[in-house]
Amino acid sequence: MGGGQIRKFKRSTRELLPRPLRRVSRRKWIPWSWIERLHRELPEENLQALFAAYRLISTELPIDTLASRSIPGEYAGCHRCGYCCAQLNPGPVEKYEFDKWVDRKALIKDFFHACERPRSPPHFDGFYFQGVRLKQCPFLLVNPKDNKQFCSVYHFGPGHRPSACENFRPNYPRCEITQKPLVF
Ligand code: SF4
Ligand code: SF4
Repeated sequence: MGGGQIRKFKRSTRELLPRPLRRVSRRKWIPWSWIERLHRELPEENLQALFAAYRLISTELPIDTLASRSIPGEYAGCHRCGYCCAQLNPGPVEKYEFDKWVDRKALIKDFFHACERPRSPPHFDGFYFQGVRLKQCPFLLVNPKDNKQFCSVYHFGPGHRPSACENFRPNYPRCEITQKPLVF
C-alpha cells in the first residue's frame, strides 16, 4: 500500500472527525496503515469511535514512554507487523476475567461490554467503544521511531489484556498466514 494512498486517507479521515478527535489524529503513534486497510469501506461512526478510543487511551497511558519500551526489531519470532492484533478478535471473556480488570482498574475494561445470550453464562465482548464495535484493537499503536507496531498495555503485565492475547505465541511467518482473520 502506497504512502500517498495513506496520506490521502489521513486527510479525508481528519475531515470527518470532530475537532478534539482531529487533534488526537495528529499523534505519531496512530497506526494509519492498519486503519486505512480496515476502515476504507466502513461508515464514519466506526472511525469516530476508534479515534475517541485513542483519545481516552492517550489521556490514561504514557504512550511515548510505552512506545520507547516496545521491543526493538524482531523478538521471539515476532516482527511486530501488527497483523495478529489488527485482524484477530480475542473473543468473548467470562465475567470473572472482566471483574479482575475492574478490580485492577485495567483500561481494557472500558472496551468490553456485557452480552447476554439465552442459556449462556454472562460474558463480555470486545472491542467496543461508545456502543460501536471497533474494527481493530485500540491498544495497537505504532512506534514512530521504527514504524513497528506495539501493544500499549503489554508492559502492565498479566491481567491487562484478554487471555487470548496473553496466551498467543508468535510464529512468524506462519502467524501471518495460517490464522485467518475472524469476521466481526
Ligand atoms: S502476526 Fe506474528 S509477527 Fe506479526 S505482530 Fe503478530 S505475532 Fe508478531
Ligand atoms: S490488547 Fe494488545 S496484544 Fe491484545 S489485541 Fe490489543 S494490541 Fe494486541
